[in-house]
Amino acid sequence: MPKKRVFQLAKEMGLQSQALVAALKGLGFQNVTVASAVDEETAKALEELLAEQLAKVRTKKAEEEAKTTAPTAAVQPAAAEAPPTQEPKPEAVPKRGRRKPEETPAPEEVLAATTEEVPVHEKEAEPERVLPRRASYFDQEMLKLERQLERLAQEVGTEPGATETKPSLRELVSRPKGPRPPSAIDVPPVVTVLGHVDHGKTTLLDRIRQTNVAAQEDGGITQHIGASEVEYRGRTIVFLDTPGHEAFTQLRARGAQVTDLAVLVVAADDGIMPQTVEAINHAKAADVPILVAVNKTDLPEADPERVKQQLLQYELVPEEWGGDTIVVPVSALRGEGIDELLEMILLVAEMQELWADPKAPFSAVVIESRLDSSRGPVATVLTRSGTLKVGDVLLCGTAYGRVRQIRDWRGRQLKEVPPGRPVELVGFDTVPEAGGLVEAVKTIKEARRLAEERQEAEAEKERQQLARRRVEEAYAGLTAQSKKVLRAIIKADVWGSAEALRDALLRLAAASEELSVDIIHLGVGDVTESDVSLAVACEATIIAFRASVGTAARQMAADEGVQIRSYEIIYDALEDLRVELEGMLEPVYREERIGRAQVLQVFPARSFGAVAGCRVLDGRLQRGAEMVVRRAGQEVFRGIIDSLRRFDADVDTVEAPNECGVGSREFKAWQPDDLIEAMLRIEIRPTLRPEGADQKA
Ligand code: GDP
Repeated sequence: MPKKRVFQLAKEMGLQSQALVAALKGLGFQNVTVASAVDEETAKALEELLAEQLAKVRTKKAEEEAKTTAPTAAVQPAAAEAPPTQEPKPEAVPKRGRRKPEETPAPEEVLAATTEEVPVHEKEAEPERVLPRRASYFDQEMLKLERQLERLAQEVGTEPGATETKPSLRELVSRPKGPRPPSAIDVPPVVTVLGHVDHGKTTLLDRIRQTNVAAQEDGGITQHIGASEVEYRGRTIVFLDTPGHEAFTQLRARGAQVTDLAVLVVAADDGIMPQTVEAINHAKAADVPILVAVNKTDLPEADPERVKQQLLQYELVPEEWGGDTIVVPVSALRGEGIDELLEMILLVAEMQELWADPKAPFSAVVIESRLDSSRGPVATVLTRSGTLKVGDVLLCGTAYGRVRQIRDWRGRQLKEVPPGRPVELVGFDTVPEAGGLVEAVKTIKEARRLAEERQEAEAEKERQQLARRRVEEAYAGLTAQSKKVLRAIIKADVWGSAEALRDALLRLAAASEELSVDIIHLGVGDVTESDVSLAVACEATIIAFRASVGTAARQMAADEGVQIRSYEIIYDALEDLRVELEGMLEPVYREERIGRAQVLQVFPARSFGAVAGCRVLDGRLQRGAEMVVRRAGQEVFRGIIDSLRRFDADVDTVEAPNECGVGSREFKAWQPDDLIEAMLRIEIRPTLRPEGADQKA
């Protein structure tokens, strides 16, 4: 039987999906969401149930009204409708209920309270937002629910609709929550593909885009965040490129912040892996719906059912098992299931009713940025609200400028761009940070002033940090337990990589209490002499990721003994830096029991006063090893096995079940039946590799 989703049902009933959800929750369906799928029978039952509920409310209300209006009713009998109790309801929920002309008029009094500020936010809603007087009582209830929802939205800080307070930039780049203004347009969903390395994210995106992205990568790992638009059945989907390595967690998390939907790629032969879990957590934290693409179903060892089982552990219950999670089996390699995946993406997007207002102030989020040798600072932004035109003045953090060029992801030049699209912008004076929020400013003068103010504030912050660092270092120098510090200057070709490296380093250091990483400077572009002189001043190492080192800078580094580590592949960089940090750690020791022996007899001895004649019960005793002597379970001595003899000869080890003599310089109070436990201190090379981390090269 074909299934219907709640949002579709709501559409049929002429209701806002959220209002229907709220109504259903009111009826006790606590887990229902707009995405919940119901079969036709259930849908019908729900309609009836709602109608029944409504009839009850109506009867109650009518009774109350009859009580309060009784005296006047006698004076104005003509004004009264047929008594509500006589209505032959429960009627079915009206299809497209709000505007039915033939609908029974509700009592005027019921309307009076709600007529003014009723926020009807249907797409095709009447522009003046006044409730038609003939609306049914059911609509009243629904409208109340909608109003409750809006109040809720206001409480969490989003202003529905235009009010006199100016929305903040953060609000502008978020999806609007209030009623849809008449000027609003539908915008494409923004999709991020997440998943464990090698599960096929790149291949899937590639297949979807029909271009060959994978072939251009170093080491098979996606390294740059970009974005692309895909047309399917006349509709657009924006895909954010996602890096595949776990070190890019931060970038992925950022991707998820502008993301409307996360496609979780899980290889059917491999199942859920650490980075899959990470991806699930990020999507959940960002409150982004997850659609699961079970990939590599072409492989003979593929086991999609096992993947579905595993998903349960993460509260992702596949639809066919009664849950909300859409699971689509695909083979990115063969292109199987891709159409269904795109259908499902559009379906989930449709439920979200995504729109943006091209008339609102302009806002955008920087997805990626870099310094292009011929074009200067280039930023890929995702436009979120308003309309951007060539010549507009933009501000992003401390970067500003007049837009000289707008290009879409295929390199086509645009004169203007509506909200909801990924575009590449040229015109900023410096490289804006990835993740930065972009706003429009009226004049270049104003932009410069704001940028300078921010620069000054940042410089002040840096000065304070430097001062604090000095104090901390001076203090640490006085204490024995000073931390080992790796100071680093990171230069990369793009912001995303620079930040990812910084975050990976900080995370590595955070794994050990002994270490700390101090990122002195983070930047995009070549390593310059100024970087080297900063490194000299701070005794820092320079990490250059896909960033070239100028000849003068290289010479200066050699003269000054500054280390510059250059990398092309993120995995190499992380491995190398991990080894470097591990080398800074003090080794740790673990005691391992190597054997036990029981004292049989005690002999006087010249050298140690007394030696114990023992039988080795298990394992071995070893000269030089540590031992614990216990008597009736209590420890009576801890020290070193200084002497080990067998048949009057000094030996290094004695294995079970042999007998031997044991002596210690510091202990002579041996007694028969004492138990000796011999132990070795094993040196453990400290590692910063997280448990279960992927070790793929
Ligand atoms: P990513 O690290 O998640 O981006 O994974 P890739 O897209 O780079 O894919 C990793 C490997 O899996 C590559 O060798 C792909 O050819 C292979 N692969 C991807 N999708 C499929 C698929 O559907 N079937 C099979 N058999 N192999 C696939």
